[in-house]
Amino acid sequence: MDNSLEHILAPALSERRAAHRYRHRRVLETPQLPELVVDGKSYQAFCSNDYLGLANHPAVIKRLQSAAEHFGVGSGASHLVNGHSSEHHALEEELAAFCGRERALLFSTGYMANFGAITALVGQGDAVFEDRLNHASLLDAGLLSSARFQRFLHNDLDNLQTRLEKTEAARKLIVVDGVFSMDGDFAPLPQLAQLAQQHNAWLMVDDAHGFGCFGQRGGGTAEHFGLTQAQLPILMGTLGKAFGTFGAFIAGSEVLIETLIQFARPYIYTTAMPPAVAAATRTSLQLLQQESWRREHLQQLIVHFRRGAAEIGLQLLYSASPIQPIILGDEARALAFSEELAARGFLVIAIRPPTVPVGSSRLRVTLSAAHSVAQVDALLNALTDINNKVRA
Ligand SMILES: *Cc1c(COP(=O)(O)O)cnc(C)c1O
Repeated sequence: MDNSLEHILAPALSERRAAHRYRHRRVLETPQLPELVVDGKSYQAFCSNDYLGLANHPAVIKRLQSAAEHFGVGSGASHLVNGHSSEHHALEEELAAFCGRERALLFSTGYMANFGAITALVGQGDAVFEDRLNHASLLDAGLLSSARFQRFLHNDLDNLQTRLEKTEAARKLIVVDGVFSMDGDFAPLPQLAQLAQQHNAWLMVDDAHGFGCFGQRGGGTAEHFGLTQAQLPILMGTLGKAFGTFGAFIAGSEVLIETLIQFARPYIYTTAMPPAVAAATRTSLQLLQQESWRREHLQQLIVHFRRGAAEIGLQLLYSASPIQPIILGDEARALAFSEELAARGFLVIAIRPPTVPVGSSRLRVTLSAAHSVAQVDALLNALTDINNKVRA
């Protein structure tokens, strides 16, 4: 009997390959920009989450550099030991003010913020209700929280209501993405907030794809819908997407934030993000509030792309966000489309199960304020060409 690690692990890899679900990493050799080089080849890329093009903004880079001159690179400790720098602290205060919340708390990643918040807020005897298309980090946290974990149908308020009416749990937590990461649509947040209030449940929104992109000042879906701290008590945002840096935060009441500091294990038992990253994020936050032209340009690109894709006859989802998935069906078809695009110099990633439901493999096109209209037109031309070829 061969009990070696390799012998036991290999069959799952073969199965994944046979199902066209094998994942490969590409090696990026340039900054994350619309024109980049991966694996030695140049592409126009439509797959980054750097929605506002801030990851390479000169002022953000300069701030990172100057803060590193002052603080060095590593934070050297967790926030509760002595890794909580004045830059972290100032960023938290600015994020709280930006979100109209009492406090904000930085986490090293969005995955950890979701994990930390959900597991600190609910446990045995409680219930957590999640949209079935929620991000993996939210689903994982719900599953591991020891609370009764229920998934409701995507954006289906009736389905959620039925579940809320049946539960006898002590604490009830409703969790959704503000903008769904693989579909690009919004959650019906005002209605969810109302439902939460009717049922004495708490609402948590992960706005990883909404922050920076929506709302008058870029405050995300919470600002877009005008939801207060009372209506939306647990607000989570990430800094690695529209903010162009790294990390995440939770914003809410004083008591919420103190609870997370005391009880959220992924907050407590990890090294603080580098202070220079927090400093650079402060510059991103300023740019994002002061310069609305990036959001306006991005909206124009979204409308332009949707109009063009509809003319070609591609199947888009109902999305007003920079996430514009083209649904292609099975894994092989999505991969073939992605490869045809790559051959024409466009990098768009095929998203397959288990990330999305079986039969809904897709190209996840993402737009950024760093793209030009001409670049979007070039992508549309390539898609027309491939669509004709595939149909012929
Ligand atoms: C990217 C993402 C996360 C994870 O954030 P990281 O900072 O990358 O760990 C969480 N939720 C959603 C919806 C995301 O898209």
